[in-house]
Amino acid sequence: MNPREVAALLAYVVRLDPRMNVEDQAAAEERLAQWCDLLSDVPAQAHGWDAAQTARDYIARNPYRIQPSDISRPWHAHKAAALARHTDPTPAVDPDNVAAWRAELIGTRQAVATGAALPSTHRELTSGGPAPEVRDRLAAIGRRIPPEAAAALAQYRPRRAERERLAAEDRPDPYAVPCRYCRARIDKPCRNHRGVPRTAPHPSRLDDATARHHAQQEQSA
Ligand SMILES: [Zn+2]
Repeated sequence: MNPREVAALLAYVVRLDPRMNVEDQAAAEERLAQWCDLLSDVPAQAHGWDAAQTARDYIARNPYRIQPSDISRPWHAHKAAALARHTDPTPAVDPDNVAAWRAELIGTRQAVATGAALPSTHRELTSGGPAPEVRDRLAAIGRRIPPEAAAALAQYRPRRAERERLAAEDRPDPYAVPCRYCRARIDKPCRNHRGVPRTAPHPSRLDDATARHHAQQEQSA
């Protein structure tokens, strides 16, 4: 999981178990760094695996506060079980091309090990793409962060969510430019004369962002 996915997972965990809430910003950052470190080799989602679901199951069944190892241990068990089930499918490349044949076998095993592919439990004679039920499942888990975790994250990082929304709608992003009125730097909120962050950017910053947006649009046209 990358730091963004870990932050979303932590937000989800705090929502399920309020005891996991930490008031102190420094403590929250320290915990995030620790979880990022310990979960860097655990995917948020993979075939038959969902880190958020694993956390939810743990919290539902245990009276103890969840630790990163309560997510990484089940992942490594899941990965070992998937590899044990895997038998190599027939590569799609020319069998006379030994190097390509070997590379595809190794690639498939690595994909199973990292959860990017389902283990193949029988030797296939043809490759006609995934079965409809498999395709549906892939479509359902296509998003790397579960929707509820993404929503929980947006609540904690409203400015990030706003910036993503503006980018998705191809609209000017005031936080992509500094503010010449209050001198707020890029990605930082505008502040009023007492130094308190404002929820809305200063109008001049919005103007600058709009000018920049139009310049970029002309450049790419
Ligand atoms: Zn400003």
